[in-house]
Amino acid sequence: MIQLYIPLNFLGVIYREIKQSLTDLDKMFTLMDKEREVADAPGAQPLAGLSQPTVRFENVHFSYDVRQGSDFSSGRPILQGISFEIPVGKTVAVVGPSGSGKSTLARLLFRFYDIQQGRITIAGQEIRSVTQASVRQAIGIVPQDTVLFNDTVAYNIAYGRTGASQDEIEAAARAARIHDFIASTPKGYATMVGERGLKLSGGEKQRVAIARTLLKNPPILIFDEATSALDSANERAIQAELQGVAQNKTTLVIAHRLSTVVDAHEILVMDAGRIIERGTHAQLLALGGRYASMWSLQQEAPPESPAAPSP
Ligand code: ATP
Repeated sequence: MIQLYIPLNFLGVIYREIKQSLTDLDKMFTLMDKEREVADAPGAQPLAGLSQPTVRFENVHFSYDVRQGSDFSSGRPILQGISFEIPVGKTVAVVGPSGSGKSTLARLLFRFYDIQQGRITIAGQEIRSVTQASVRQAIGIVPQDTVLFNDTVAYNIAYGRTGASQDEIEAAARAARIHDFIASTPKGYATMVGERGLKLSGGEKQRVAIARTLLKNPPILIFDEATSALDSANERAIQAELQGVAQNKTTLVIAHRLSTVVDAHEILVMDAGRIIERGTHAQLLALGGRYASMWSLQQEAPPESPAAPSP
């Protein structure tokens, strides 16, 4: 009886584990409002050459599919002829009004969707020719709104790398400056968070996401800056953390505050799915165009207020 019980119990544990991870993935996709509509090409191999993870968009055109009954058709063009390169270890920042297509770039790099025209490559390999899992493994995302699971703080941080030890989890939390907060709660890392647990502020959630990303330690990073109003002390602290995390990583920053992009290798100014200006902060200021006027608008904003709303 005992002999039978143990394997069944063991299977039960495995079943719960699998179900949990499927639920989490499912939830992640639902919450992030992404559809799983891409599939691996037959015989696709994992992404290679990740020590030199240059990211390139070459003449990328994209529109989201529109569902009509059971049929899908291409919707309006969202990206039109986007080309840029993020050299190894550099940061490219994208700015522009709401709806101009900034976050879509991040979704495409993570391969939530396939593009209709052009190429997106990582280390010279087109992302749709390699396995989807290997692309996602190579990229860490710190999203606008971090998805927290109804589980412990430790689980939520370790989601970046299953099998991480408690010491590794704590080290990541310290680096993301969330450890002291966690340690101050009665149950520490065993505290339940999420809908049914401890509610974290936007900034605290973002720190959990940073800790998750630090633990995952991917060669490529995507930061989708939060649009929500963080006070400026918090904003500066988070920016400093993000910069630390981005050191030597190939990084795409979707920026809402121009102060974040000043040091970027290149800044892309987007409008209605096109890049209308590009260059370093100094070059764009000298150009005296859209970026320069966005910059002077944000300088006029009172220090404690969030970024000026997008036009
Ligand atoms: P924001 O600064 O507000 O985050 P953004 O520049 O990041 O905006 P995107 O999220 O890339 O803009 O959206 C670009 C356009 O694509 C918008 O017009 C948006 O309505 C549309 N869009 C975004 N997601 C979808 C989707 N899943 N299906 C259809 N259209 C979408």
